[in-house]
Amino acid sequence: MGLLDGRRALVFGVANDHSIAWGIAQALHEAGATVGFSSVESLLDRRVRPLAESIGSTFIEPCDVQSDDQIRAVFAKWRTAHGPDGQVDILVHALAFARREDLEGSFVDTSREGFALALDVSAYSLVAVVREARRAGLLHPGSSVLTLTYYGAEKVVSNYNVMGVAKAALEASVRYLAADLGPEGVRVNAISAGPVRTLAAAGIAGFKKMYGAFADLAPLRQNISIEDVGRTALYLASDLSSAVTGATIYVDGGFNIMGVPSADA
Ligand code: NAP
Repeated sequence: MGLLDGRRALVFGVANDHSIAWGIAQALHEAGATVGFSSVESLLDRRVRPLAESIGSTFIEPCDVQSDDQIRAVFAKWRTAHGPDGQVDILVHALAFARREDLEGSFVDTSREGFALALDVSAYSLVAVVREARRAGLLHPGSSVLTLTYYGAEKVVSNYNVMGVAKAALEASVRYLAADLGPEGVRVNAISAGPVRTLAAAGIAGFKKMYGAFADLAPLRQNISIEDVGRTALYLASDLSSAVTGATIYVDGGFNIMGVPSADA
């Protein structure tokens, strides 16, 4: 029997088979959950549908999370597809965006528009998605919400710039949402993942070098995989984490505990 037998998950943010969201979707599916997908329209038919269908998914809907109307439409379609009892047991938010020019050079040069865009897509969208799922009556006692963050929220990471500020807002949003929804039995948590080679990461200047250095510095001396993230997502999605909410859990081989790197690293 799987840990998530009979549970339904909705995953926002698969771009391709390298996406962290895909690692999470696979882990949830392997544990017995039925997984639905929502991604930007341009990715749906070519990229997302084949992956979704490979794990038996039938719910595959477009959504640009900058639009409240599109978010509402996804939940309305979920309701139609799953009926009055078809709530969302696991809601995964694994998406972010910033302009390429804001992911290089100096943070001080970030434009007002670039800042607003990064914060809207990468942080506010979690609030919007959770709010609309709740308004649609799709969250219930036992539902678990997950999002993805990165160490650049806490410490300065070269070139991460405005995305670090967005992730700080996202992590704070997780705590406020957890406090709001806790009395309703809904848990909200974040996974702070180490660097993973994905499309989004490719937009960050110097990512390749940082990715290469990571395994030398992290206590576990290796890069992390989307399967590693999937296993922690499984813990957060399931009753194994029944009393955990508002937390940011690191899946980073211990990188975050290190201060000054050792001389031989
Ligand atoms: P990814 O595969 O490129 O996924 C990012 C997804 O966000 C893409 O599907 C992207 O679509 C989507 N997205 C961007 N703007 C959107 C919008 N307005 N509406 C809906 N979807 C939108 O990259 P990933 O690395 O797996 O990213 C997933 C999450 O993990 C992000 O929150 C990221 O910050 C976080 N994270 C990543 C790393 C890493 O090293 N990769 C580490 C820690 C945390 P488009 O392709 O169309 O933009």
